[in-house]
Amino acid sequence: MGRRWGFLIGFLVAVGLLGSGHGEQQPPETAAQRCFCQVSGYLDDCTCDVETIDKFNNYRLFPRLQKLLESDYFRYYKVNLKRPCPFWNDISQCGRRDCAVKPCHSDEVPDGIKSASYKYSEEANNLIEECEQAERLGAVNESLSEETQKAVLQWTKHDDSSDNFCEADDIQSPDAEYVDLLLNPERYTGYKGPDAWKIWNVIYEENCFKPQTIKRPLNPLASGQGKSEENTFYSWLEGLCVEKRAFYRLISGLHASINVHLSARYLLQDTWLEKKWGHNITEFQQRFDGILTEGEGPRRLKNLYFLYLIELRALSKVVPFFERPDFQLFTGNKDQDAENKMLLLEILHEIKSFPLHFDENSFFAGNKKEANKLKEDFRLHFRNISRIMDCVGCLKCRLWGKLQTQGLGTALKILFSEKLIADMPESGPSYEFHLTRQEIVSLFNAFGRISTSVKELENFRNLLQNIH
Ligand code: FAD
Repeated sequence: MGRRWGFLIGFLVAVGLLGSGHGEQQPPETAAQRCFCQVSGYLDDCTCDVETIDKFNNYRLFPRLQKLLESDYFRYYKVNLKRPCPFWNDISQCGRRDCAVKPCHSDEVPDGIKSASYKYSEEANNLIEECEQAERLGAVNESLSEETQKAVLQWTKHDDSSDNFCEADDIQSPDAEYVDLLLNPERYTGYKGPDAWKIWNVIYEENCFKPQTIKRPLNPLASGQGKSEENTFYSWLEGLCVEKRAFYRLISGLHASINVHLSARYLLQDTWLEKKWGHNITEFQQRFDGILTEGEGPRRLKNLYFLYLIELRALSKVVPFFERPDFQLFTGNKDQDAENKMLLLEILHEIKSFPLHFDENSFFAGNKKEANKLKEDFRLHFRNISRIMDCVGCLKCRLWGKLQTQGLGTALKILFSEKLIADMPESGPSYEFHLTRQEIVSLFNAFGRISTSVKELENFRNLLQNIH
């Protein structure tokens, strides 16, 4: 059956025009259906359906990706959690135990990762070290070997890149520290209420291209909202160009993913003997049940799938960069590094084989001048969001918020980088396009989070099937 017919029938079933029919009494919806019945079929603005993503992610990608993210290269992330909030002064640090982040002792992190000048490989490392040493000694450029000069030029160019969608964290600052992501997992922290709402509010209200007159449905910081606000909001959203609508959906998808995680790793028991973390079905329902959220929950889950597709597409597009023979996941442990690169490429080829990739060519198309202006707006808004992460009052939430916005920013940079487009259509690897270790670690960990959310949705679906 054609996709359009499948979609039409799915739609008619969803709105109740095709039922089992003729005035028959419908059985009451189960708890699982109330969260998931609208989260099926085709996703707006894409040619992909939820079921295809579930199957692909949960059985083919998720287990291998988890293994990769446990490796040294991906588990240590350097971050500055002490950067001041650039927008307001009164950040109340929530002070909850579960918000604390434990940084690494310097001897825990492999030397290959710590090396300040790390780039991709031992050779690149040595070149940059040679250069930095020369700089420290006040050497002029001519004293550097030709090869070193070339490398320096390339890295400087890269560091000055205007393709970035994120404000780079100042990882050279003495305040920046390595964090072991496996020891500081994203989970329920208890960060909530007006402080958390303020962050989400600023993100949506000031950065999602939304005029103040349009109210977001169920916004806890706006009083007396009704159905008419909801209708106005969605007709505003539908009236936007595809890029601006995508921007809102990416943020909403990220928000949904964070809230899926805190529901899946909720603090279930807290005694002086032990803490127990696990699935909190009530928490999940309060956030995503179709009835309890007046239809908002399922929409948010669809946005999460949209975000998944965007990051998946970015990874498929950047494969040639990782295939470069001189690219290594360098930690200094040769055997381990080679094994990890093999696993990385296996995962990337799996991703490339996904049959229904998002088509980013529909973005920033049309009139060149307008498209460039729109792209610039998109980039600046996203950079702003990455800066807002320094205002999050719970350090654990800040850590994962920063990592995930940097990861999504890297995905957008890949999707829309002119260099990538110019250099890598079919012709193989680009030597103009680069990613730093920070970008690589955040890209894969951010995707790992969304992939875990999709897997957790299956777990919640199974748990909800057992209750009515
Ligand atoms: P919130 O999630 O705070 O949402 C506020 C309002 O936004 C809702 O009332 C609703 O109107 C709307 N909304 C909710 N979800 C969506 C969506 N997907 N799309 C569009 N609109 C939506 N808490 C943790 O326990 N662990 C964490 O790791 C964590 N990380 C965080 C990271 C950041 C950057 C931020 C800002 C918060 C984080 N939080 C975390 C807090 C968590 O996201 C919630 O803010 C908190 O649990 C309170 O939830 P809430 O139900 O009041 O609504």
